[in-house]
Amino acid sequence: MRATQAHISLSALRHNVELVRQLAPASRLMAVVKADAYGHGALTMARALEPHVDALAVACIEEALELYESGITTPILLLQGVFEPQELELAASIGAWVNIHSKTQLGWLEAAHLQCPLQCWLKIDTGMHRLGIAPASTGDFYHRLEASANSQASPVLSTHFASADGADRDFTLAQIQQFEQATVGLVAQRSAANSAGTLAFPEAHYEWIRPGYMLWGNSPFGTAPHEHADQLRPVMTLQSVVTAVRDVPAGEQVGYSGHWRADRPSRIATVTAGYGDGYPRTARNGTPVLVNGQRCPLAGRVSMDMLTVDVTDIGPVVPGDPVTLWGEGLPAAEVAACADTIGYELLTRMPARPPRVIRDED
Ligand SMILES: *Cc1c(COP(=O)(O)O)cnc(C)c1O
Repeated sequence: MRATQAHISLSALRHNVELVRQLAPASRLMAVVKADAYGHGALTMARALEPHVDALAVACIEEALELYESGITTPILLLQGVFEPQELELAASIGAWVNIHSKTQLGWLEAAHLQCPLQCWLKIDTGMHRLGIAPASTGDFYHRLEASANSQASPVLSTHFASADGADRDFTLAQIQQFEQATVGLVAQRSAANSAGTLAFPEAHYEWIRPGYMLWGNSPFGTAPHEHADQLRPVMTLQSVVTAVRDVPAGEQVGYSGHWRADRPSRIATVTAGYGDGYPRTARNGTPVLVNGQRCPLAGRVSMDMLTVDVTDIGPVVPGDPVTLWGEGLPAAEVAACADTIGYELLTRMPARPPRVIRDED
């Protein structure tokens, strides 16, 4: 098996779920496993999560079908609802829940002839301005859903936060206020919190929380410290090995385009992982890499299948020594910050090339 592997820790996953439960003990937990569970493997994650969560969520019916056909029986919400009316019948046939975020979708639902009514979620736009109905029309949509034979009684009322991970809390507080005003007097369960909301806005946990990213052990606050987020354990650790070590005289360059130059006699370790394995090519010189558990700076451009690290300042390094690119001991957010992106993107863009090695020990 290729030495570059994404180790997936099920015990870390369970630890994170437990933390989420402690943070929101009165809420039901919908685990968001869209985009192949942010690169971790949706089916593996869904199977591991099933005994511990109340529902799952994905972006589209294709993702829900894949889970359903593999034996997942937990209800699955389609976060963007359906993209064409025929998908409503498919959703009904697998018992999926659907978001209604627009008049068009409501019209499709009302006009459908479904074998059984769907559990609907109604999405209200409180400031994200991406999907959702105007807050003032919430009552109208709610009553039309209640009246439709294709909708189960009591749609869940939901919204999505735009900036709950930011230092400025006012925008989220305004969203919460909008949401409460829009839903006042309606008998329904409610949902607003993603990972950042779950961590930073307990007043917005309501009946359902919808975390994704934090379940994989990553902080939505990136590298900023946070009392609770810092207790999360990374589920994915991207591992590789050193395959060559060389001494490079001062003044020599390393890698494509001479992107790094030795300003002293240096020892360079070559690692068999590159952007073809999901490591970002945009990672700058100095991006931290763990070699034998010690932090070393990336030195030179990341290639497709390899990268190079300056190991001058750590003890002896030989081919076969272990390398961690992110995960246990090195948060993906830190690497992401050195590559002008966020941990979400690093994880979600993981290609299939590194085998996912599932581990279940503590
Ligand atoms: C992706 C998504 C989530 C989960 O967000 P995280 O930041 O990963 O916790 C929750 N709700 C909606 C509507 C989403 O699209």
